[in-house]
Amino acid sequence: MAIRFLNTYTRTLEEFRPLDSARKTVKLYTCGPTVYNYAHIGNFRAYLFEDLLQRHLEASGYQVNRVMNLTDVDDKTIRGCHAAGLPLAEFTQKFKDAFFEDLKTLRVKPATTFPSATDPVYIARMIEMIAHLVEHECAYQAEDKSVYFRLNKFPDYGKLAHLNLDELRPSGRISNDEYEKESIGDFALWKAWDEADGDVVWDSPWGKGRPGWHIECSAMATALLGPEIDIHCGGVDNIFPHHEAEIAQSECCTGHRFVRYWLHCAHLMVEGQKMSKSAGNFYTLRDLLDKGWTGREIRYVLLSVNYRLPLNFTFESLAGARSALSRIDEWVARLTEKAGGELNASAHPLATQKRFQQALDDDLNISGALGVLFDVIRGSNRALDEGNLTPADARALLGWWDSANSVLQFQHEEEAIPQAVLDMLTARAAARAAKDWAQSDVLRAQIDAAGWIVKDSKDGQKLTRK
Ligand code: AMP
Ligand code: ZN
Repeated sequence: MAIRFLNTYTRTLEEFRPLDSARKTVKLYTCGPTVYNYAHIGNFRAYLFEDLLQRHLEASGYQVNRVMNLTDVDDKTIRGCHAAGLPLAEFTQKFKDAFFEDLKTLRVKPATTFPSATDPVYIARMIEMIAHLVEHECAYQAEDKSVYFRLNKFPDYGKLAHLNLDELRPSGRISNDEYEKESIGDFALWKAWDEADGDVVWDSPWGKGRPGWHIECSAMATALLGPEIDIHCGGVDNIFPHHEAEIAQSECCTGHRFVRYWLHCAHLMVEGQKMSKSAGNFYTLRDLLDKGWTGREIRYVLLSVNYRLPLNFTFESLAGARSALSRIDEWVARLTEKAGGELNASAHPLATQKRFQQALDDDLNISGALGVLFDVIRGSNRALDEGNLTPADARALLGWWDSANSVLQFQHEEEAIPQAVLDMLTARAAARAAKDWAQSDVLRAQIDAAGWIVKDSKDGQKLTRK
């Protein structure tokens, strides 16, 4: 079965065909954090679903070039640095560092590139794009000196969000003094400097100012990934206006369709409300670590519900994650103990691998994938209890778990047995069966060098971490 995604743009389940399907490369852009504070776990739900996406694509043989931007200039970062009495770059660096640390705690694979909006290369790119839009009359400088995108130049605006935007379309110039824009829907590309900006300022052909948030993403995405991107992700709150604006700006600049597949995760909720800084109902990762929960448990909770469904955060769900993970740990420990035994023929769990993969191929159906995992755990525990699971079966199951875990990242770190070590164990069992003691010793040394100790008992080989 091919990989299929529910594309927000078309609202249909579509077979995934990247632009460069011959080389199996995927260009992935994911909107990153605004670095004015610690990210909350709602934000991390978005980054974790993107991690699942990247890891599943990689497990399926794709090479993923992922860009995640850091929004390090906007109203909130400016307000924050002034309140802290720090230069903008110094203020945001602290939260960039914290963000990278949090990603590690949650076992999120780092993006290929983490561009910052204030990097002079991207500021120059933003100015270049805005100039192009102005030149082609897709943008204009208003009386307040800011530059706005002219919405009526892009009839597709609103298609991603499936909104009726009639009221946002211009019906002649709005005379109300409140609006200096031609139409209330026109959004800012370049914001003219005002006093609240203080020393956060760049020169531009339209005077001093700073970029708008939307153009930041269009500039970084097209600079690093080119005019056409395979997949663009974010939370559903990003759809409008942010992603609509990204499409409008990028397509008017490049003349290409900006994104082939749009994937958006539903919100992390708390008692029926979106978890957000402004609602004050949020937990940062650090809050939960301080309460004794681990990154792995939080990862499990945030990943375990399909990304298109809202996920209600509770402490019971964290307790549930703890017990699910300890079931996995016990299972892996039992298999590891069994795996050291003598070589037997084994049915390689190909069917399991296929069921697991097919679940994730189906728009990242994690509930289905976890269902396969716990079925396998139940079945193999029963077989172990009944003495019906051979060492070779155990090795094959661990081999499968190794590949499933490369996507899930649920393994207790100390117990991860790399596939290479499992292979050496199998080869050593074969050497011992053939009474090739010299080869058996060579393999023991190799296993040792890979960080594992193998001991021979009357039940066969026993593997432990060094
Ligand atoms: P921000 O730092 O506000 O720009 O948000 C960063 C990312 O987190 C965006 O992709 C948002 O859509 C996403 N996000 C924010 N709040 C939540 C939430 N409660 N649940 C899931 N994703 C969220
Ligand atoms: Zn963005």
